[in-house]
Amino acid sequence: MQQQFEAVSMTGGHGTNSYANNSLLQRDGANLVKTMIEEAVAEKLEIDTFPSVGTFNITDLGCSVGPNTFLAVQTIVKALEHKCASLGLSSCMPEFQVFFSDHSSNDFNTLFASLPPNRPYFATGVPGSFYGRLFPKASLHFAYSSYALHWLSKVPKEVLDRNSPAWNKGRVICLGGPREVFEAFSRHFGRDVEAFLSARAQEMVSGGIMGLIILGRDDKVAEAKSPIGVIGGVLGSVLMDMAAKGTIEEAKVDSFNLPIFTPTAKEYQKLVESNGYFSIEKLELVRDDSDRSSDVAIDPKMLAMHGRAATEDMVRKHFGHEVVDEVYQRGEKKIMENSHLFKNANVLLPSLFVILKRKADPQIA
Ligand code: SAH
Repeated sequence: MQQQFEAVSMTGGHGTNSYANNSLLQRDGANLVKTMIEEAVAEKLEIDTFPSVGTFNITDLGCSVGPNTFLAVQTIVKALEHKCASLGLSSCMPEFQVFFSDHSSNDFNTLFASLPPNRPYFATGVPGSFYGRLFPKASLHFAYSSYALHWLSKVPKEVLDRNSPAWNKGRVICLGGPREVFEAFSRHFGRDVEAFLSARAQEMVSGGIMGLIILGRDDKVAEAKSPIGVIGGVLGSVLMDMAAKGTIEEAKVDSFNLPIFTPTAKEYQKLVESNGYFSIEKLELVRDDSDRSSDVAIDPKMLAMHGRAATEDMVRKHFGHEVVDEVYQRGEKKIMENSHLFKNANVLLPSLFVILKRKADPQIA
């Protein structure tokens, strides 16, 4: 049985269950790395080596509908203006073009309608998957992406095959189950990272910078206990409870997996190195188990709403709209029972912060 969705999209619009109203945790993460982005632009971006830049091209890949993308873009543009000014380029300050990019199914109408009115940049929407080419050759100076690259291009087919040792029966996430399931997801993630980096390598100018925030995994925490392991486990057990009650078919649960892989810093570093087009300027896990800097407190309802905004579209397409409310009501209850695992937002969203620089071509060979 095939999964019914092809592209993952967050819930659009401005309603109670929308991504726009349920992405505070992601925003909190972007704030935490604001300083790091500013440093990357100030210290790593060698604007003066670019052939006279009239227009500075920036993209946010997997931008969703806002508001987080606007905050991130504002940070990047401000940092660039500051950099140009510090280099004495104030009189010939480049103009900024921002490409907001996401799947074509993303709610671009909501995004465009909420663009900040006095923005210091030109705004464009670019539809399509970031696992393929989206921009002309050597046209991008800064590429940003936050909380998007853990979404795989699709669910690996082995995990849906009842004859494969990697069949993920009765479960919807790759963590905390059979090793073969984890390995199938890990291999697929590796291929996706390779496709992502190779496409960007074509599109970025030499010396261009990528700032990536990726939902990651702390290698000191057992996979099943990692936040995504726990949340995926909750969703899987809710669906199995509903199958036991006869509300949904068990075979439908077996054929449903969240196309998510959360890499450790080491796993991601290996993939970037084997791709070879980018130098690693920074790659570290932030907001890990030991980090207590966030002041966003977690409550089970909020967590269920965040989970809903990110997964509702897939759940509805696969199981039908009539079961959606029940899935998330049951989910909230189960999260409540496990609330000791989610004391604050850091524990919830361990994130890789990655700064990559496009190598100059002669270095690549
Ligand atoms: N960057 C925003 C949104 C994160 S939600 C923030 O930090 O709040 C993840 C986004 O990634 C979604 O909008 C989803 O549609 C997008 N996405 C996932 N896979 C993608 C792909 N292959 N190509 C383009 N966008 C993708």
